[in-house]
Amino acid sequence: MQTIDDPDTIQRRCESLRREGKTIGLVPTMGAFHEGHVSLMRRACAENDIVIVSIFVNPIQFGRGEDFDSYPRDLPGDLAQAEQIGVDLMFAPSAQAIYPKGFQTYVDVTELTTGLCGASRPGHFRGVTTVVAKLFNLVMPHRAYFGQKDYQQSVVVRRMAADLNCNLEIVVLPTVREPDGLAMSSRNTRLTPEQRRAASVLYRSLRCADEQVRAGEYSAKTVLEEVRRTIETEPLARIDYVAACDPETLQPLDYISGPVLIALAARFGETRLIDNLLITAS
Ligand code: AMP
Repeated sequence: MQTIDDPDTIQRRCESLRREGKTIGLVPTMGAFHEGHVSLMRRACAENDIVIVSIFVNPIQFGRGEDFDSYPRDLPGDLAQAEQIGVDLMFAPSAQAIYPKGFQTYVDVTELTTGLCGASRPGHFRGVTTVVAKLFNLVMPHRAYFGQKDYQQSVVVRRMAADLNCNLEIVVLPTVREPDGLAMSSRNTRLTPEQRRAASVLYRSLRCADEQVRAGEYSAKTVLEEVRRTIETEPLARIDYVAACDPETLQPLDYISGPVLIALAARFGETRLIDNLLITAS
């Protein structure tokens, strides 16, 4: 596996791979790999001739006071893991290389980004779509892989790819969880042992919502109250939001009569975690 940090070099390499007729899969990440990343890399390896993984802790998707500086980083460990999985190329550029002096062009998906994490993290998705658009231009992948754990991100990236005529398939894979249900996240390493134990309440609260909806509860308010009550049994958890929304438009739902996305964010100390569950009312 070769590691490339220069955007022009990765672009030239990808152009020549395309000319050779190779299919290219891209897995964009911020590194500090866990089994969620591994599942994306494995699937990409199974479906493409060449797999490129990017590691870039993207400064412009972090707001002021967010955890850019303390975000977990483990480049040597990540390289070893990716190599073992069979990744062909690692793209690990510096912030300076991605945003050189004079940079002033941003990609903004306007409506899908207003609610959920977009409301709590203004500018976050603008940072995400800008860097993902740049990665798509550099790598020109046939397929790009994302996790359902960041559900809103996957919907926003899909919209951007369609709106900007990016000629590629967006593949979204299920959330990989710890044995107690906690969604795997690089940020989990920042939890204290007590916070880590407490954080399993998030998935339990989503399971409660799932049970209610499957039992026929159609009031989103009732379901969300139960989700909140469950999370609030954990004194270490501070809710940012809980929401029931249309899985495609991400608009809040009052009544649940078909597929619904239950999405939430909560803080444990300084660490903000997100999770979601896609439920189909029976
Ligand atoms: P990140 O490094 O956190 O930006 O994540 C890189 C990619 O991995 C994104 O598409 C995430 O949605 C995906 N991902 C993160 N955590 C998980 C997980 N627990 N299960 C599946 N995919 C994940």
